[in-house]
Parts: sequence; structure tokens; C-alpha cells
Amino acid sequence: MHINLISDTVTKPTQGMLDAMMSAKVGDDVFKTDPTVNALEEKVAVMFGKEAALFFPSGTMANQTGIKLHTQPGDQLICDKYAHIYNYEGGGVSFNSGVSCKLIDGDRGMITAKQVEGAINPPDFYHSPLTSLVCVENTTNKGGGACWDVEELKKIKEVCNTNQLAYHLDGARLWNALVEKKENALAYGTLFDTISVCLSKGLGCPVGSVLVGSKEQMQQALRVRKIFGGGMRQAGFLAAAGIYALDNHIERLLEDHQKAREIGEVLSKLTYIKQVEPIETNIIIFEIDEKFMTGDTFVEKLKEKDVSIIDMGQGKLRIVTHLDYTDTMHNAFLNILKNL
Ligand SMILES: *Cc1c(COP(=O)(O)O)cnc(C)c1O
Repeated sequence: MHINLISDTVTKPTQGMLDAMMSAKVGDDVFKTDPTVNALEEKVAVMFGKEAALFFPSGTMANQTGIKLHTQPGDQLICDKYAHIYNYEGGGVSFNSGVSCKLIDGDRGMITAKQVEGAINPPDFYHSPLTSLVCVENTTNKGGGACWDVEELKKIKEVCNTNQLAYHLDGARLWNALVEKKENALAYGTLFDTISVCLSKGLGCPVGSVLVGSKEQMQQALRVRKIFGGGMRQAGFLAAAGIYALDNHIERLLEDHQKAREIGEVLSKLTYIKQVEPIETNIIIFEIDEKFMTGDTFVEKLKEKDVSIIDMGQGKLRIVTHLDYTDTMHNAFLNILKNL
């Protein structure tokens, strides 16, 4: 039994999801005539109380499109040093939008309104790049699945309003934060200009992300998506998986969070673990005490037991729980850890 905990993206469609995909009504989405894609976009827009939504093949493309909508070449955006848009999107911010990032040294991937305020370049000082956008991430990936305090997000919104900055949320794992914090998607819709959400992470879809915003923004996003090569034809087969996941796989994320906490409890009792970061959702980030063994050795030892986890660099290891990580696997993994 292979236990794959490298990411929540490793899941395969469930039978119910496959059935929904196979019976999807499809059309050519480049002509906007795929009824299932249109239904998914409508559904997600309504969830966030936004005018419109657009389906994307990846979260990266959805984020990159959002950034493109809000910036001009030469501009600067503000984000945390751990941000996915900065670390894991191949430098797309500069490649696609000609934009630089002002990095903030936040806490587990989260920044404060005060820090944002201090990072804005004075708009009249033409020597510096023009600050035009603030990007935040919820939950934070490199920050260990941490969830934001909505009050801080509101304060940042005020800073954005005062300084005429756009506000984008990378919500790849926003669903995890919503169920964990019992928050409402509508509240997020009112806060942000645009939000990207992933269907292919905790929700268990094979492919797909969605960007939400105003009608005008999504009209422009359609053009940007085309430029990025993201126009797909009978994408309704994929959108059907998304609709199925939104109806069936959101509440169950709490099970992933519970399992993550249980793994964290076992890890924190092991002598050779130096530190386990606080666990709020489905991501566990921890460090091995190098007096006992290196991180590499630990990863190798688990590999011998047919368990996969990943090294995040800087001595940090990551485990992510997900839909395909069953109770049986969970019990087996906890035993492996206790007896390693
Ligand atoms: C996974 C992820 C994305 C998008 O990734 P894709 O692999 O392109 O779908 C964006 N932001 C965060 C925080 C992520 O974890």
C-alpha cells in the first residue's frame, strides 16, 4: 500500500466524480457554448457573490491572469516572502505581467495591514515602481496551511482602498480555511477584487481552477486566458468534476484536518523531531533534529515503508493529507511513525 502524502494534488477522481464527468453535457468552451463549464462558472460566481467567473486549467494560470488584470508592466505588487505567486509560478509575475514583487517578512505566510502600508511606494515618486496590487494567500501553502484572521484581511482592504490598490486572493486552498474557520465565501467575495480557487487540491478534481471577479474583469480575463493558451474546448468533462466536488467534497475537508492534527501529535512526541509548526488545516510542516538524522534520511526511511513526503528546503519537511488518504492508510502511517 503506497501512502502518498506529498500533496493534496495526487488524488484521483472518485467513482461518483467519474460518473458525473462521463455523463457531462459538453460543447466548445472557446465559443463559450459548453453548458457544464458555464454552469460551473455560474455556481462559483454565486458562491462568492461575484458577477462572473472563469474556468482555468491551473491555479497558476488563474493567479497569473488575476495579476495581469490589475497591473501594467513596470508596476509592483506586494506579497509575503512565502507567496506561491512569487516562489512557485516560475517567475510568471515578471514574465507575464512585467511586474516585480515587494516581499514582506510575514508570519507563516501572512502579513499585516501595517506592513502593507509600509511597503507601498509613494505614487508621485516616479523613481520607484508604482505599487498597484496586494496579493494574499489563504490558506498559506509554504506557511503550513495557516488560516488568516478575516479582521486583518479587512484592514488590508482598507489600506488598498485608501491607496487605490487592487486586492487579489490566491485561494488555492480557501475551501480548507472556510470549513475550518466556519467562514462564508460571500464575505471573501466582498473583500477581494479577484479570487482564484483550486478544484484540484483538497476538492479532489483531476484538473481545474476558477477565477472570480466583476463581469468586466472576467471579460478581460477571457482574453488573457486565450493569450496564455488556456482556452479549452470540451472542458465540460472537467467542469463536471468541479461541480461534483463543490457539492460533495467541501465539508469532508474537516476529516483531512483531523488526520493532519493526529499526525502532528505523533510527530511532536518523537525525539528526533525538532519542531512541528502549528497545524490548522491539512498541511504539516516540521523539522528533523539533525543530531539524530538528516531530513533526507527521514524521507528515505519513509520511502522504504512505501510512504512519500516532500522536502520543502531549508530543513523543512511537508506532509499533506487529502481525499485519497484513507483511514486504513492513516492508521498504518501513524504506526510506521511510532516504530521508525
Ligand atoms: C497549488 C497552488 C496554486 C496553483 O497551482 P497549480 O498547480 O498551478 O494549480 C496556487 N497557489 C497556491 C497557494 C497553491 O498551493
